[in-house]
Amino acid sequence: MEYIFSLEFIYLIASITYIVGLKMLGHPETARRGNLIAAAGMTIAIFGTLFLYQGEVSTKIYVLIAIAIVIGTIVGWLIAKKVDMTKMPELVSLFNGMGGASAALIGLIEFHHNVGNPLHIATIVAGMVIGSVSFAGSMIALGKLNGTFKKPIRLPKYNLLNNLVLIGIIVFGVFITMSGTSSQLFLYLLFFSALAYGILLVIPIGGADMPVVISLLNSFTGLAAAFAGFLYGNMVMLTGGILVGSAGTILTFAMCTAMNRSLSNVIFGAFGSSGGDDAEGHEITGSITKASVSDVAILMNYSQRVIIVPGYGLAVAQAQHVIHELEQLLDSKGIDVKYAIHPVAGRMPGHMNVLLAETNVEYDKLAEMEDVNPEFASTDVVFVVGANDVVNPAAHNDPSSPIYGMPILEVENAKHIIVNKRSMKPGYAGIENELFYNQKTSMLFGDAKDVLTKLVSELKSM
Ligand code: NDP
Repeated sequence: MEYIFSLEFIYLIASITYIVGLKMLGHPETARRGNLIAAAGMTIAIFGTLFLYQGEVSTKIYVLIAIAIVIGTIVGWLIAKKVDMTKMPELVSLFNGMGGASAALIGLIEFHHNVGNPLHIATIVAGMVIGSVSFAGSMIALGKLNGTFKKPIRLPKYNLLNNLVLIGIIVFGVFITMSGTSSQLFLYLLFFSALAYGILLVIPIGGADMPVVISLLNSFTGLAAAFAGFLYGNMVMLTGGILVGSAGTILTFAMCTAMNRSLSNVIFGAFGSSGGDDAEGHEITGSITKASVSDVAILMNYSQRVIIVPGYGLAVAQAQHVIHELEQLLDSKGIDVKYAIHPVAGRMPGHMNVLLAETNVEYDKLAEMEDVNPEFASTDVVFVVGANDVVNPAAHNDPSSPIYGMPILEVENAKHIIVNKRSMKPGYAGIENELFYNQKTSMLFGDAKDVLTKLVSELKSM
């Protein structure tokens, strides 16, 4: 009975909830519950620590902790409640950055308590550096996602510069650990260098490569938290950190595959350099064909197979419910219909899956890129809704393009291509798309929700 009320037991329960929660996040049907289970585990761990911790803690510290928890809960709750679905990727970046900042602050505070213990100092230095990089990098990523930093900023010889700064940080970190110094000046110098490196790492990233960086920063935060857990001998922090770190690492590999970048490119700072530092792709000339809602309705009505390609614009328009209605309508007419999901469509990993799961789209209607690409050739209509970069053939045809080499959904192989967007403006990578000028392509201009609503009512009347 005594064991049940021990911190070890509470931490064991919390760790199990993280593992179960993470497993459940792997499927849209169970993801929401998984999140709640892991959050409940986190709450148990926090209150367990507050009430069952055996060490000396003054009342003042308890009051400060209580104030921090109240402020954090209120602010976090309000932000998460109010945020638009389209701003979710920015919020995720912000929260990730806060995790990194917490790990960095732990390092700053704990350093002078541990001078003389090289293992602890090594842990503190590693956690602080990685946490600072993650915090600064996440803040830049946030600016890139919300459009504050529109273009990559590439300092002269930025690859070399970044690598030199990184080597400098590692050497300095090893020096602080090995020398046994108690210098706060050195510690703060290392801290600010790590912040600078986080900024330098992310500012040169070209538009389309952001998913790799976001997942990499995510794994950094997990790693930094794991170091803090190790420092305190706190098992639940260690487990949580390792889970976030390894999940982030797996995601980084998945995003590398999706972007066709090797991890060494990622680590040694060759992001976005595939098409030359300032590559914008070649200029596209030609004319486009416009289609009306009726044209598209007729085309779809007489098709046997339709593939929908959702992209970021679908999330902007909040058109997920009406696209599901369209899919069900086509299904009821005996038309074979599915969604082609590109791994980096939208603005965060899994964005399209989350968006479509919200409307209870059947999971087997979602086809992954590798599986669906061979099917386009036998598809009557591909309906691209608010997607751009993920269907840009420049990734195959134009070596000067910044997205050259990135696997795309090969929609140009279909018999007819309908593209819905509001204008001829480029997508996130900021480059033109020759798909729009393809003879098989018709542009259906307008806000996705408006257009889809009209399309559904037109199809219903047929
Ligand atoms: P893109 O950003 O390439 O294109 C989205 C398109 O949607 C735009 O061209 C826009 O055109 C259109 N659009 C915007 N609002 C609407 C609306 N209301 N109705 C209809 N269309 C609309 O999106 P993709 O999903 O194709 O590609 C994702 C991009 O984001 C990739 O470059 C990826 O690397 C990057 N990225 C992805 C991340 C991830 O983790 N998934 C993270 C960070 C970046 P218009 O303005 O003319 O309407």
